[in-house]
Amino acid sequence: MPLPTAPAEHVERALCVLAHPDDVDFGSAGTVAQWTAAGTQVSYCLVTDGDAGGFDETPRDQMPVLRRAEQTAAAAAVGVTDLHWLGYPDGRLEPTLGLRRDISRVIRQVRPQRVLTSSPERFYERIGASHPDHMTAGESTLRAVYPDARNPFAHPELLADEGLEAWTVSEVWLGGGPHPNHVVDVTDVVERKWAALMSHVTQVSHLPEGQLQEFVGGWMRQTAKDHGLPEGRFAEAFQVVHTG
Ligand SMILES: [Zn+2]
Repeated sequence: MPLPTAPAEHVERALCVLAHPDDVDFGSAGTVAQWTAAGTQVSYCLVTDGDAGGFDETPRDQMPVLRRAEQTAAAAAVGVTDLHWLGYPDGRLEPTLGLRRDISRVIRQVRPQRVLTSSPERFYERIGASHPDHMTAGESTLRAVYPDARNPFAHPELLADEGLEAWTVSEVWLGGGPHPNHVVDVTDVVERKWAALMSHVTQVSHLPEGQLQEFVGGWMRQTAKDHGLPEGRFAEAFQVVHTG
């Protein structure tokens, strides 16, 4: 028998670890809005500054500053004000021990019961979800959740130099992967998700009015349908993995 997949009904703290500014908003902003509305304290950890993104003539050296500001505004739209930036280069992420240590540091600082990240598995039916940086961020986060963050002898400098005690995360939610097993109906907070997405001006301002909602809303309605929700609902889906 597989393990039960139902997540905890409520957690005190959650941490979302994503490769790029905007990743959390495309896949999970509705879910985050529901968590914060229910009193969960949500933090973000952004692995890169998204400096390889964008569609206009913005000078490349300004992109990290702009994208940090955009993600900060998007986070505020769904009730998140605690952001941790790791500053890795966009498009070149590798699952190094250094990245595992840096994510473990944030896990030990935030002490979340729940972590949300990208699936490390390639989703062949929707290849855009499986950007190599997304899979690397997901893989590195899972390695940080188990075993690094909970093992006091892993990355010993975190404890010795920074006083960061080991911490065990109970569950991980993987987005954008091939095996979702949990659906969240976010219809009631979908306006907050649009507000979060529209905050990423360098990424979405080239789109004609309404196209973003049509495009992302189309996926979300399809997700709702695939998971048996009533017609016209908007949903986000995840693979929930118990790690406690
Ligand atoms: Zn991305």
